[in-house]
Amino acid sequence: MVNLPPSFIVGPRAIHAAARSHGAWLEVDLQAIAENWKHLARLAGQAAVGAAVKADAYGLGAAPVGEALWQAGCRHFFVAHLAEGAALRAALPYALIYVLHGAPEGFEADCLDYGLIPVLNNPHQLSAWVGLARRMNRGPLPAVLHIDTGMTRLGFAPRDIQKAAKDRELMAHLDLRYVMSHLSCGDERGHPKNEEQRKAFHKLRRLFPKAEASLANSGGLFQGRPYHYDLARPGIALYGGAPLMGEANPMRPVVRLCAQILETRDITEPTTVGYSGTYKLKKGRIAILPVGYADGLMRALSNKGFALVQGVECPYAGRVSMDLVAIDVSRLPEGAGGRGEVATVIGDGITIDRLAEWAGTNAYEIICRLGPRLTRLYTGPYANSNEEAPPAPSS
Ligand SMILES: *Cc1c(COP(=O)(O)O)cnc(C)c1O
Repeated sequence: MVNLPPSFIVGPRAIHAAARSHGAWLEVDLQAIAENWKHLARLAGQAAVGAAVKADAYGLGAAPVGEALWQAGCRHFFVAHLAEGAALRAALPYALIYVLHGAPEGFEADCLDYGLIPVLNNPHQLSAWVGLARRMNRGPLPAVLHIDTGMTRLGFAPRDIQKAAKDRELMAHLDLRYVMSHLSCGDERGHPKNEEQRKAFHKLRRLFPKAEASLANSGGLFQGRPYHYDLARPGIALYGGAPLMGEANPMRPVVRLCAQILETRDITEPTTVGYSGTYKLKKGRIAILPVGYADGLMRALSNKGFALVQGVECPYAGRVSMDLVAIDVSRLPEGAGGRGEVATVIGDGITIDRLAEWAGTNAYEIICRLGPRLTRLYTGPYANSNEEAPPAPSS
């Protein structure tokens, strides 16, 4: 039995090892992430393009993803939590790392120690950050101000930001890097809410005439020039998700999830498959894959969609269980779909958006939930390969 570290850098030997230890693995194409970033950077023209790498880069691994993006030219990184920023700092010593939730109360000094830039979302966070600046007495501290323009989640209410802007003494303690807001319908072209939010943002940012501005997420980047401002913050598009709903996806796929068939059995008499017997068949063949909802293969996929074996669509048969799922391989030619064969769960046209549609969710949730038990294999020239030689042929 091979014991792998939770993330292991790549090549046939690593795949071999992962296959033997779990029978399922996740390939993350760092080259594709870098190309996706470059694509967005071209689209943004004069505007800078950063990267949302919160939630461990949407489940794909913030350190390797961050390093690949840095090498591609990305300099601005957005995390949700202070702890995520502190962890990323170890991988990216020179990056600009912004903490979207701001520093938790009482942890402002830690934020500064790690060289992280807090996004200040309300008057409390503003006064705590300014309080630190006063105590330090070493001049203004870097910060981003987040204004809510209709998302109604984080960010200053318009009234509060107007009040803050007027307080010259307070503002003198901020080295204000950006004024930002976040779109609630950025992934829908032509949604009236986008223009509403952009106009509100355009007006409110004038309270800080010297500060640069940031509005666009992935979708926002595709809503046209007026949405670009000075810095964009894409996430899902970097990871291969469709930036706009219902439109062709220009991004390269990044994630591939493979699982090796554990067992295949011939069904010769009518039976049901899995918990609660929800899949019935009279005869045929059923193969078992070692992935389940603990690995992020959502239970909502029960009896929805398919995996690929030798390019053939093999429908999910019955309930997805915690560690296992059955697929119907009856349509495969005789002798195919046996034990040890590799099924593609994500990849080869099964996009994260397609899987999301089957599961009744979005691509974000599909990749964020890919479990820690799946070994991540990083591919592409941005991966520091630690392989010496290809695997010896088995038997
Ligand atoms: C997550 C997030 C982003 C990235 O959004 P995508 O839709 O993944 O491009 C940008 N800005 C903020 C404030 C976010 O929370």
